[in-house]
Amino acid sequence: MMLFNGKIEIPDIKIDYEKCNLCINCMRTCPMRVFQIIDKKITQMPGEICIACRNCEVVCETGALKVHGSYRVRKGLPEIGYFHLEEFPEYKEFWK
Ligand code: SF4
Ligand code: SF4
Repeated sequence: MMLFNGKIEIPDIKIDYEKCNLCINCMRTCPMRVFQIIDKKITQMPGEICIACRNCEVVCETGALKVHGSYRVRKGLPEIGYFHLEEFPEYKEFWK
């Protein structure tokens, strides 16, 4: 588990590079674009928020990738990923 911005608990992604065949299925399925290839290795980028959907774990056919932890907001609102009320006129009464 890691704490992002002191507010959001996000998982650690563990990758066994002995098993990884660089198929990039995990990269292609991640809705949050958490992964990049650095030095020919799939890498969880520190500035990206993993929401623990576990899609990457499911599509990893070699069993190289494991998601450890959960996505949880610990305090306040996260800077991204929350509903932008201002984009919806029907919620105007809730605009601040
Ligand atoms: S658990 Fe979901 S959000 Fe997190 S890295 Fe995997 S695919 Fe991306
Ligand atoms: S899906 Fe698994 S084997 Fe494929 S690149 Fe990702 S970690 Fe490696």
